[in-house]
Amino acid sequence: MTAIPQHALAAETAILPLAQTLDHALRDASPAHVIETALKTVGREQLALVSSFGTESAALLKVMADVDPAIPVIFLDTGWLFDETLAYRDTLIGVLGLRDVRSIKPSEEALSRQDPDRELWFSDPDACCRIRKVEPLARALKPFSAWINGRKRFQGGARAELAVVEEDGERLKFNPFANVSREEIEAIYKLAKLPPHPLVASGYLSVGCMPCSSRTAPDEDARAGRWRGRSKTECGIHTTKTS
Ligand code: SF4
Repeated sequence: MTAIPQHALAAETAILPLAQTLDHALRDASPAHVIETALKTVGREQLALVSSFGTESAALLKVMADVDPAIPVIFLDTGWLFDETLAYRDTLIGVLGLRDVRSIKPSEEALSRQDPDRELWFSDPDACCRIRKVEPLARALKPFSAWINGRKRFQGGARAELAVVEEDGERLKFNPFANVSREEIEAIYKLAKLPPHPLVASGYLSVGCMPCSSRTAPDEDARAGRWRGRSKTECGIHTTKTS
């Protein structure tokens, strides 16, 4: 398949049938094949992977690096991340030979206007995620026609019915790990001897921003520690369109 030119991807109406066709074709494909198909479909200049450099991120980054380590990786540095996550990003860049990791920060203007006291995570977490994650990601994805992310069906909730390829406004969204099990992710870590996120050892199964991440008990879901005590389960980058 030859890469589809950007102007052909500009019309949102063309994206939905293309996403459905690709999803059908890739329903049982390996993660590497999904990423290879994304590359062939839009070309490397038009493709980015979005990673939180969290507890399971190294597996997807490893698969991507084996396909093409120069695919741009977008990392949302919200200003509330653990130092351990920033260190892990740098470790994985070295271990996997990632060539184009872009750390994206929120707009200073939005922070000073909407969250001058850094308490928005408590008073209005949706607004906090919007200025720290959703809006910066939308800006960072502007040059791209397609993006890759690491959500899995086994994570449950809104992710249980995840397609392998989705329409995201004017973009394609590839979910190479949609079908992958927790055991398969663990196997990728083991086989490639990937270093764990430093906070896994102290009981974090899922790591995001500091105020909104907590340790999980053995009988809890991996994401139970995110926004604990609130009805919020997603930051918004996957529940709103990026374009
Ligand atoms: S996860 Fe918490 S601290 Fe991070 S952007 Fe969302 S509300 Fe703010």
